[in-house]
Amino acid sequence: MSDEPLDLLLVGGTVVTVDDERRVIGDGAVAIAGDRISAVGRTCDLGRRPAARVVDCAGKLVLSGLVDTHNHLFQTLARGLGEGLPGWRWLAEFMWPYAGTISARETVVAARLGAVEAARAGTTALLDHHYGCTDVETTLAVADAIEAVGLRGVVARGIAGPLTDLGRTQGLPESSFPYRADQELEYTRACMDARPADGRVVVWPGPINITYTDRELLRAAVELARERGTGWHTHFCAPRPDPETYRDAFGVRPASWLHEEGLLGPDTTLAHATWLDDADVALLGGTRSCVAHCPASNMVVPYGVMRLRDLREAGATVGLGTDGSACGHRQDLFEQMKLMVLLHRVTTLDQEATTVAEALDLVTREGAAVLRIEAGVLAPGRLADVAVVDLQRPHLRPLNDPLATVVHAARGGDVWMTIVGGDVVYEDGRCTRIDESEVMAEAQACADALLRRAGLERLRHRTP
Ligand SMILES: [Zn+2]
Repeated sequence: MSDEPLDLLLVGGTVVTVDDERRVIGDGAVAIAGDRISAVGRTCDLGRRPAARVVDCAGKLVLSGLVDTHNHLFQTLARGLGEGLPGWRWLAEFMWPYAGTISARETVVAARLGAVEAARAGTTALLDHHYGCTDVETTLAVADAIEAVGLRGVVARGIAGPLTDLGRTQGLPESSFPYRADQELEYTRACMDARPADGRVVVWPGPINITYTDRELLRAAVELARERGTGWHTHFCAPRPDPETYRDAFGVRPASWLHEEGLLGPDTTLAHATWLDDADVALLGGTRSCVAHCPASNMVVPYGVMRLRDLREAGATVGLGTDGSACGHRQDLFEQMKLMVLLHRVTTLDQEATTVAEALDLVTREGAAVLRIEAGVLAPGRLADVAVVDLQRPHLRPLNDPLATVVHAARGGDVWMTIVGGDVVYEDGRCTRIDESEVMAEAQACADALLRRAGLERLRHRTP
């Protein structure tokens, strides 16, 4: 055991390691030095090591921090809106007018609110697919907002490019596509320069959607990611008509085109991927591509059911995502875990279609692999990203099966402490780095003004 001086020592908790043996340690301890985990074990073995701060976790569950693999923080001001609008209408009548109107300041306020909400729910890292206001300054200000709250993550800069014929036929507004292809690449490159791959919050290229982003631009965006050693991110094959719409336009399904162009691989992170045929699944799996599974939004919008078991058996890496506040409505990955289990059981009528252990894997170790971060497991050497859940709640007692309890009964609001890289960013009801009441007041004022300007106030008053 290393004798390095400890900064933080969590003792006396039920430690769910999600390590290779999937150990659950009763009366366990996690020792943290700097931004890394130094040791994980029993309190009787580790509890006497000197540490700058010792945290008593008796009556608490210590988890690896949760990872959100698909989010849109700029949509946080749109929470609760767009209810009941079907797929393309949801985009054309609600999301694109919202995204095309939001100001730089409103974008940052939205990101700050979303990041606060995520930190309070035990999320330690998130991928923000950012396509609200994508000039260089605002994109970097969003990265700053995530870091200011204390989280780790990726801002995948939304690359729209000029409106394509396919996008035009689907009714997308020209005003939402302000930049030429060369500008998109230049701005993304500038953001990546400012936030390189080894930082706490980094920037990746995030072409908005495989169906309506120009193919040359998409190829160049992936080349940029590969040149810089980052991942890249896009919306993929949802809603249902997307792969056929694409095939009608280009004579090939999107997964086949990506594969032919050499664009699939572990650096490829695809949101949703709900409508795949067997060949698509084999291509994504065979190339070890990554998929962000968003159960709540896939039911809210509704996009459909991702082929979870098929994709994982084929070799794809799958993480969970909230899909932001306009689709998922809450930054709560506990909710996503439970919905994932329920969704795949009810649609297969198979109790063994998935397990609570698989849900925990997806939200921790798999999610960390999607984001390319050395976190996701409570093990020595990993980044010290930790969520501590308070079990002293009526709905979490008695504690019998910790994994089933955390997936089926716990919710984001049960998180008591969130630690990112050894820093306590949320503790006992309070974010440590930011004034939450100020963030909420600013968000309400910004939402009122933004919806008025975007002509979306009518969406607030939809009655049955
Ligand atoms: Zn999305």
